[in-house]
Amino acid sequence: MKQKKATWDDVLLRIQEELNDKHAFEAWFKPLEPVSFKSDKVRMRVPDEYFLKWFKRNYADILERTLAEFYGHSIKVEYEWKDTGVVPSPNTAKVPVRNGRLFGLLDLRFTFDTFVVGKSNEFAYAAANAVAESPGTRYNPLFIYGGVGLGKTHLLNAIGNKIISSRTNLRVCSITTDQFMNDFVRASVTNKILEFQNFYRNSFDVLLVDDIHYLEGKPGTQDQFFHIFNIFFNARKQIVLTSDKYPQNLSEVEERLKNRFEQGLIVDIKPPEYETKVAIIRKKALLENFYLNEELAHYIVQQVNADNVRKLEGALVRVLAYASMKGGDITKELVDEALSGFISQRRKLTEDDVINTVARHFNIRANEIKSKKRTKHIAFPRQIAMYLCREVLHSSFPDIGHRFGGKDHSTVIHSVNKIKELVKNDPDIRELIENLTKKLKG
Ligand code: ADP
Ligand code: MG
Repeated sequence: MKQKKATWDDVLLRIQEELNDKHAFEAWFKPLEPVSFKSDKVRMRVPDEYFLKWFKRNYADILERTLAEFYGHSIKVEYEWKDTGVVPSPNTAKVPVRNGRLFGLLDLRFTFDTFVVGKSNEFAYAAANAVAESPGTRYNPLFIYGGVGLGKTHLLNAIGNKIISSRTNLRVCSITTDQFMNDFVRASVTNKILEFQNFYRNSFDVLLVDDIHYLEGKPGTQDQFFHIFNIFFNARKQIVLTSDKYPQNLSEVEERLKNRFEQGLIVDIKPPEYETKVAIIRKKALLENFYLNEELAHYIVQQVNADNVRKLEGALVRVLAYASMKGGDITKELVDEALSGFISQRRKLTEDDVINTVARHFNIRANEIKSKKRTKHIAFPRQIAMYLCREVLHSSFPDIGHRFGGKDHSTVIHSVNKIKELVKNDPDIRELIENLTKKLKG
C-alpha cells in the first residue's frame, strides 16, 4: 500500500485496526503529535520522558511499521517531548567507551546499588560482588543462570561497572553472545578471522558475555569461543557468563565447552519472593524520582502478579507515566487506570492450555489425552487435566467433555471427583496439582 499523501489520521486508523486494543490505542497513540513529516523522517512529539520510555519499548515498532507501509519505505522517527526538547539518542545510558578500558556496552543504571537483594538472588549477588572486587582470583568463570527478566544482565553489568570505575587498570569486554557471533561471522566473510581472534584473545582482562545460551546450535562460534575462553581461563583472567539454562542443560553445545562452564562457580537467580518484588518496585520508583508508599507498592505487585521483574518494571513505568501525565499523586485509582490495559493483555487460559501443560508434564502427547485410550499412563493425566479445567478454569462438565475429544459429561464428573478425593487424601497428588496450577497461571 503506497499512499504518499496519507494523513496522520489515516495512519492512526490503520494502527488502531492493527492494535485492536482500544485502551492501548487511547493511552499511547492518541497523545502522539506529529510535528513534521518528511520523506524519510517523521518528528513526533510525546508528552514526556516516561511516556517515551514505555512507548519505545512497546509500541514504536508498530508505528514505524505502519509508517513504512504508508510511505513504501522505512521511515526514521525522531521523538521530542514538550519541556525538554529533543530526545537524546536511546543509548545515552550506555556509554560505548569509558577511559578506553571498556569494549562493548554497559548499562550505567545496572549497578550493585540499584539491585535489590532477596532470598531469590542473594547468592548470585554475593558471588558477583566478590568477582567484581577481585576479578580473576575467586570464582572463574562465574556462571549466572536463571529465567527471563530476573536480573542476570543487571548483575553482569554491575560487575562491569564496578570494575571499570575501580582504580584497577583492567580492560573489560562486555558483550552479548549475539554480538560475538556477529563479529565472528563478519570476520569470516571478510577473511579477518585472525584479527578477530587476536582482538578477543589479547585485548582484555575481563570477559563478560551475556546470554551464552545463544551459542546453542552454533558450532563455529562455539569453537571460537572455546579458544578465547581457554586463554582467559589459563591467564586467570575473569570470565562471567549468563545463561537461561544450567550448563549441562544447554542443548547442542559441545561437551568440552559445557565442562569449562562448570569449572568455576555456578549460581542461579530464582523468581523473586513477594517482599523482594515490593522492594524492587519501590526502589525503581525512587530511581525515577517518584515516591511509592508501601501500600501502593503491595497493590501494584498484587495486581501484576508476575515473577518476571522486567514485567513488573513495565507495569511500574506505566503507572509512573500516568502519574506524570496527570501531574498528581499516585493513587490506587491511578494504578487501576494505568494497569487496566496491561493486565487484560494476559490471555485467558483455555482447556487446550491445560491439556498441553498436563501432557508436557507427563511426557505424553496432547492428542493422547483427547483420545479414547484407557491405559493408565494416559487415563490418569486425562483425569488430572479434567480436574484442572474444572477447578482452575471453572469450565462446565459438558464443555470439558467436548474439549477432551467428545467425552460424556458423566465421565468428566467421575474423573473430577476421583481426583478431588485424591487431593484430599494424598499429599503427593496435592503437590502435583499445586505445581501444575502454578505452571498454568505462569
Ligand atoms: P535478565 O537478563 O535475567 O533477563 P535483566 O537483568 O535484564 O533480566 O532484568 C530485567 C529488569 O529487571 C532490569 O531492568 C533489571 O534492572 C530489573 N531487575 C531484576 N532483578 C532486579 C533486582 N533484584 N533489583 C532491581 N532490579 C532488578
Ligand atoms: Mg538479559
